[in-house]
Amino acid sequence: MKVLQDQVAVVTGAGRGIGRAIALKLADAGASVACLSRTAANAERVAAEVRERGVRAWPLAVDVADAAAVEAAMKSFLAEAGRVDVLVNNAGITRDALLMRMSDEDWEAVLETNLRGAFLMIRALARTFLKQRAGRIINISSVIGLMGNAGQCNYAASKAGLIGLTKSAAREFASRGVTVNAIAPGFIETDMTAVLGEEARQEMLKRIPLGFFGQPADIAEAALFLAGPGGRYITGQVLTVDGGMVM
Ligand code: NDP
Repeated sequence: MKVLQDQVAVVTGAGRGIGRAIALKLADAGASVACLSRTAANAERVAAEVRERGVRAWPLAVDVADAAAVEAAMKSFLAEAGRVDVLVNNAGITRDALLMRMSDEDWEAVLETNLRGAFLMIRALARTFLKQRAGRIINISSVIGLMGNAGQCNYAASKAGLIGLTKSAAREFASRGVTVNAIAPGFIETDMTAVLGEEARQEMLKRIPLGFFGQPADIAEAALFLAGPGGRYITGQVLTVDGGMVM
């Protein structure tokens, strides 16, 4: 029997990069997966890849920052799937600028998607998780939420906020058997980091003790660990997956 046999997972930002890798990894482990992404075509493409693994998939084109859309999507998804065992809040964006030049719009957009989006998803599924008296919630934070970064005050605040959200939800849900943890990835090769120039990449590489960039699969492995039997006794934690950047 597979580790997540007959389980149901929801992954946000599943259309590309880390979210896609997590959705496919959970599907490989036997879970059916709701693939939530902003762009319908991306959600559908990954849902098709999930189905190739012999499990169910629900492509959901939803903006996680849109409270009404999240509520409606989770309601109809739950009506179809009947349960939820794993929620991975992975959807995230960057809008970088130095603090003095950061616009209200860029501050708000990043906080809305990265932090409020995760809160809205957890709230929409909380009743079901608590009723089931079991579940795993995994929030994708970042090493930037632990260290800060010049030019990313909005992103760092959102990712640090996710850690506070993780720990509070972990305390609220623990007595019902629902764990809540965060993963803090370091530098992972995706579209998000592809925009950085060669000079910035080389600078970054110098700060990674293991000496190489991470891949989406590295984060997917950590998510599977927290979602699977190995995560049974772990809650309220931040698992840093960064080649040793933060230690
Ligand atoms: P990508 O930019 O490659 O992919 C982001 C995904 O999130 C896309 O599928 C995108 O949807 C989706 N998304 C963005 N905004 C929304 C929204 N409002 N509602 C729903 N879905 C949305 O990012 P990565 O894979 O690199 O990053 C994934 C997560 O990991 C993010 O939270 C990021 O902050 C975090 N992270 C990444 C690191 C890295 O080095 N790459 C390091 C540390 C953390 P669509 O495809 O439909 O546009």
